[in-house]
Amino acid sequence: MCDLPKGIKGTRFSKNPPNSRRVTRPSHFGNIFKVAKTENGKMWAVVTEDKTGVEPRTTEYHRTTNKTEAQGVAVNYFNRWLNGEFSGLNDDKRDYILQNIESLKGVDLICSCAMGTPCHRNTLILLANWESEADFLEAYITEAQRISEDYACEILNCTSSELLTKLDDFDA
Ligand SMILES: [Zn+2]
Repeated sequence: MCDLPKGIKGTRFSKNPPNSRRVTRPSHFGNIFKVAKTENGKMWAVVTEDKTGVEPRTTEYHRTTNKTEAQGVAVNYFNRWLNGEFSGLNDDKRDYILQNIESLKGVDLICSCAMGTPCHRNTLILLANWESEADFLEAYITEAQRISEDYACEILNCTSSELLTKLDDFDA
């Protein structure tokens, strides 16, 4: 479990290395929460875009001057959406991701986010590769950079003090 597949930064024209897969939009595994520059170009907004209607509709959830913060919010929202929040928002896509997450097992995932910044590819890597709570806790300990405490609590459906207890028990 320590050898989780890696995240890779790809560009539009870069080739996929062997055993890797693109999870950028508009792939099936893309994050529906997107970080976009605001109209005046001075801030970053976390938005979803609905292009299915006659009029494309953009919904904004968060606005900040800090791009990395916006990326963090977009990943947090992605995690919460996968966990069933935002019901009615791209439910088909959520179902697809959850039903096909196994197909990402052992595969390196490519997104356009800079390495070391929050990206939903890390969520997908975890979901595709952990099989038990022990696996997850091991990943949390060894890959702490990639897993926020909030997200660990969401996945394990526990409070942060319960998480600490689990980690203590696991280390013992
Ligand atoms: Zn990304």
